[in-house]
Amino acid sequence: MAGFTTRTIHALHDVALGAVVPPIHTASTFLQPTEGGEGPFEYQRGSNPTRTDAETTLAALEGARHSFAFATGMAATGAVLGTLHAGDSVIMGLPVYGGNYRWATIELPKRGITTHFHDDLNRLSDEDFDESTRIVFLETPSNPTLRVTDIRRVVELAHRHGAMVVVDNTFLTPYLQRPLELGADVTVQSATKYLGGHGDLLGGVVSTNDDEMAQQLHLAQMVSGGVLSPIDSYRLIQSVKTLGIRLDRQQENAHRIVEFLRGRDEVARVLVPGSFDEEEARIQEAQADGLGGLFSFELLPGKDVRAFLGRLEIFGFAVSLGGIESLICLPASMTHGAYSPEDRELAHLSENLLRVAVGIEDVEDLIADLAQALDAA
Ligand SMILES: *Cc1c(COP(=O)(O)O)cnc(C)c1O
Repeated sequence: MAGFTTRTIHALHDVALGAVVPPIHTASTFLQPTEGGEGPFEYQRGSNPTRTDAETTLAALEGARHSFAFATGMAATGAVLGTLHAGDSVIMGLPVYGGNYRWATIELPKRGITTHFHDDLNRLSDEDFDESTRIVFLETPSNPTLRVTDIRRVVELAHRHGAMVVVDNTFLTPYLQRPLELGADVTVQSATKYLGGHGDLLGGVVSTNDDEMAQQLHLAQMVSGGVLSPIDSYRLIQSVKTLGIRLDRQQENAHRIVEFLRGRDEVARVLVPGSFDEEEARIQEAQADGLGGLFSFELLPGKDVRAFLGRLEIFGFAVSLGGIESLICLPASMTHGAYSPEDRELAHLSENLLRVAVGIEDVEDLIADLAQALDAA
């Protein structure tokens, strides 16, 4: 048997040790038995045991055959869109997250790839596809207008035309919505949001059941290099253990706050997934297990949005979402500042729309904070 020190150093390779959490492997490289590289791990960018543990955990959450962990949500989106070639085209829902929009408007054109934006993917039809269409990229509910897209219907259309469906599932997470089970080919998520959940981690995930796509995604990790570090992989593994209880609380808080705002005279409208019309409400009900912890609202014209924001004490004025702390932002000028004026209009993004990411604080305190700020608006 190996000596004590040797055993101690190597023991953590074996989770069967009984440790209740996995070890963190920070090694940049792994010793190889031969120059052919026959060890299970070679070099950290390609794969490493802690990232593999995170990817295994994430694949289990999604019910996916393959998950890949990236350094940010945008690296995850980039890995998927990076599989396209010159001459291909993409159909993208609008609004989408500002970073996804940048990919479509800045990066894809450089590669000779065209994007067609659609403000209501439930109206998508056969005429919207041609032989160049490779991907339909959508977010449901959409950011920040919470429009709902029927994933199954888009999948049926896209597959008829040989295109893949990619769903950015950041808002609901696999806890509340599993697009792969609805037929989508690929999901991407910003792990920076609900999965990480504590406002202190950047990460991204891509999941698929398609073995060929999986090979390309692994290649993207190797080629582009935007992979999740071992320490963040470990922290993500730990964070997702509380994803369900955090989202339960965030969702319950959001529900109570929405009820409160709907009863206030200063509020013009509140947007939640399914509030657009009955059709979207039915779709949301059928394809997701809840509404999530995010909603948007508008004050009546003439109300002073800046005064309202300036009075908030518990809600932080910042972009991002999905953390345990409640945040509020103005998407038109913040998260969606990259939009052209025309696309902002097509996306029905008004200047004064406020997006609220509800945290896990005591809901009475959150409501009291909003009440006193509304009084000042
Ligand atoms: C934040 C976000 C992203 C990008 O993720 P990063 O981790 O910030 O790179 C992508 N999609 C949605 C819906 C997001 O909210």
